[in-house]
Amino acid sequence: MLITRFDPWKSGMCTCPPKHSLNPYTGCSHGCLYCYISSYIKDPFRSRPKKNAIREVEREVKMSGEGIRFISLSNSSDPYPPEERILGITRDVLRILDQHGIGFQIVTKSDLVARDLDLMGKNVVSMTVTAKDTRRIEPGAPSSEKRIEALKALSDGGIRCTLRLDPVIPGINDSYESVCWVIHHAGDHVEHVTSSTLKPRSDSLTRLERSFPQIGWRGMYTDRKGGSYYLPEDTRLGLMLKVREACDESGLTFSCCREGFDINTGISCDGSHLLGDAI
Ligand code: SF4
Repeated sequence: MLITRFDPWKSGMCTCPPKHSLNPYTGCSHGCLYCYISSYIKDPFRSRPKKNAIREVEREVKMSGEGIRFISLSNSSDPYPPEERILGITRDVLRILDQHGIGFQIVTKSDLVARDLDLMGKNVVSMTVTAKDTRRIEPGAPSSEKRIEALKALSDGGIRCTLRLDPVIPGINDSYESVCWVIHHAGDHVEHVTSSTLKPRSDSLTRLERSFPQIGWRGMYTDRKGGSYYLPEDTRLGLMLKVREACDESGLTFSCCREGFDINTGISCDGSHLLGDAI
């Protein structure tokens, strides 16, 4: 099945409303250093379309009847990798969802999403922007400036957008200055911000250690829940309050993701409340 119930690691920390998940691609050419897909996908940083993706999505949508409320694309591999520019798989998937009246929320790091403005309707785009300069941590992904330009084009076109400042990584993008740069530059084009601290798995922690050996990763990441490493609770809370403060200053609602803190000012953690009557 390509359309599955969203269930991140069966984590009790997840507060997402019930939703389905769909990844048109396996693997992701954005190649983010901190990405967790390398813990369960072979050849993780090479995007390739799912086999018979269009036909399969059409079949599953027809079979589902009223069973699917809305779909999040994508939670495992970005739906707009560079390959999408030529292949157009995600575009075809959106067309099918639109034809069947199924709401969707796009989660991406690519400005290519603005190409599909004509198919967005009342649906929601969540753009991830983690810092001003992301070349070292997200080497294959479009620049933050391009992502913010895409957000502007989408919001100018009437699409409701959210920002994901996710993950916040200690020693890399956790300064108040960095957080404010993201919120202030993307904030004019979004209504809500979702944020979380980095919770690496073993392999992503090793990649970060190799690229940023000066950061004392193992000394900071002492907690382990399931297969993920967590910063100590008071450190995570401090980082999330920092993001919330910047959101408060910009008049944006804020929610944190998989942190377990009761500090949210947004209705939903993932921004899906913006789908409103689209679902
Ligand atoms: S965009 Fe997301 S899925 Fe793709 S490499 Fe980066 S973290 Fe992984």
